[in-house]
Amino acid sequence: MAGGADDEIEKRWSLRGRSALVTGGTKGIGHAIVEELASLGVKVYTCARNEAELHACLKRWESMNLSVTGSVCDVSSRSQREELMEKVSSLFQGKLHIFINNAAGGPFKKVVEYTEEDYSLIMATNLEAAFHLSQLCYPLLKASGRQAAVLLVSSLAGQLAAPLSSVYSATKGALNQLTRNLAYEWAQDGIRANCIAPGLIKTPFADPYLGKLEEEKGLSFPVPLGRFGEPVEIASLAAFLCLPAASYITGQVICVDGGLSMCLIN
Ligand code: NAP
Repeated sequence: MAGGADDEIEKRWSLRGRSALVTGGTKGIGHAIVEELASLGVKVYTCARNEAELHACLKRWESMNLSVTGSVCDVSSRSQREELMEKVSSLFQGKLHIFINNAAGGPFKKVVEYTEEDYSLIMATNLEAAFHLSQLCYPLLKASGRQAAVLLVSSLAGQLAAPLSSVYSATKGALNQLTRNLAYEWAQDGIRANCIAPGLIKTPFADPYLGKLEEEKGLSFPVPLGRFGEPVEIASLAAFLCLPAASYITGQVICVDGGLSMCLIN
């Protein structure tokens, strides 16, 4: 009997042998998610725009005996997204257990300073890519046998106003809602969809802003837990949401922010 209970626990808390696509895995949060999943025995495919950085990461992961492959892809390009998915489908034989849409970017400007090109780029990178890649992943996720998980990485800026981030924030708010629609439509296929909304996390993307914030705020630091977050603290929730142990969680937007979003006054 004890063996049976152990097997049950092992099944609920294991991702071993599953396959995952994680966009933007060479830096920051995506990098931490790739390492967390691969360390848990997931076969991960990732992408980024910078070829040298991608190859350096792949080499390092190989030396750590982690099963990670990847290719260059700018997720703002429709044709590159299609090429990416052809590679993923061929590598994992038409099946995928986990899709994590992580890559995103700016630029960050005042509302009146945004150009038409800026607006289109942010929309294409942050929102259109998440929507289109979800569409492309759908048949593969469905083929994985009712144990698939989609994770969109949005931001606390998708729920609260932040400096210079009107268009970025609009895309992140849209991802929060897209999560609920994906979860609703795909529940019947056994595909769960959830969203992680990080607060202030130490990554190459956020470092310039966080440095400035620390300088300006000094002792009146805005985060209740008294520090910025680490990428691995996002990765641990990402892994949990993909586990069978999270099998009844879908359509949720979960903040990982050291308590920042609960405060009326910081
Ligand atoms: P990061 O340090 O800049 O890393 C971003 C990763 O995505 C890199 O690997 C980057 O590689 C890749 N990437 C960026 N644009 C891409 C594109 N067009 N096509 C393919 N890959 C692309 O950023 P991060 O802070 O880890 O952010 C990751 C996610 O968390 C984003 O969705 C961000 O909005 C969200 N987030 C971050 C924070 C924070 O405080 N850090 C807070 C809230 C939300 P290349 O540059 O080589 O393409």
